[in-house]
Amino acid sequence: MYDRCPYKFKLLVLQGRKDLVQPPSAALALGTSVHKALQEIFLLSPPDRTEQRLLELLKASFLREFRGIDRDEMQQMWDRGKKAMRLFVQHEDMEADALFLEEILFVNLPDFTVSGKLDRGHRDPDGKHHIVDYKTGKQLPDQMQLQIYSILGSDHLSVDELRVSYLYVEREGNDRWITYEVGESEIEAAIESVTDQVARISADKNYPALTGPLCDWCQCLPVCDAGKTYLANTPSESDLAFD
Ligand code: SF4
Repeated sequence: MYDRCPYKFKLLVLQGRKDLVQPPSAALALGTSVHKALQEIFLLSPPDRTEQRLLELLKASFLREFRGIDRDEMQQMWDRGKKAMRLFVQHEDMEADALFLEEILFVNLPDFTVSGKLDRGHRDPDGKHHIVDYKTGKQLPDQMQLQIYSILGSDHLSVDELRVSYLYVEREGNDRWITYEVGESEIEAAIESVTDQVARISADKNYPALTGPLCDWCQCLPVCDAGKTYLANTPSESDLAFD
């Protein structure tokens, strides 16, 4: 978040402005429900990890997460969630032995602590350890997040070679999995990169607002003059007369 907009980082992370926290949205509820169902299915014994059981787990989680959310949006998200779970059973190894599920991990580095929640860890058929992060929707891969997963995963599993993946559960094509092979040099580079980032954040005295198209969806917009000015000066389709 710091690289995308230091001012947003200051408001949400450093100041922890509760008035800017986004209310629960249908997209967030879908993500939470899918994560919960995929956590619970791997706690069952392999013969019980069926499509029907996965859909039952999704439904139970959905009913909790979608309390208070518009019914039409809920229906749309249910259809997306159901499709994602069916794709999961069709495409993924339902017998995989999870090494951990939804685990919150910490690693102490010399000047700070790295922490994060890892969705799942397992071993691939070739024996390599594999950290998997489930994604719903179209979120782009985040380099810093992957580096943090590499640091946490290698420390937790005591390995210096592993795979780290994003699994886009709603996709069917070749871009369903985005996987990075991580070795000792990548882990060292990840530690260096996270250390640099922490140093840059600590040295920043201004936390400038970086405006751009994402301002339109930013929860900090109500208190951000730079974002408001940027959007006020950005032409919209209705300002242009296309013939
Ligand atoms: S509205 Fe734009 S400039 Fe302002 S905090 Fe959000 S992303 Fe940054």
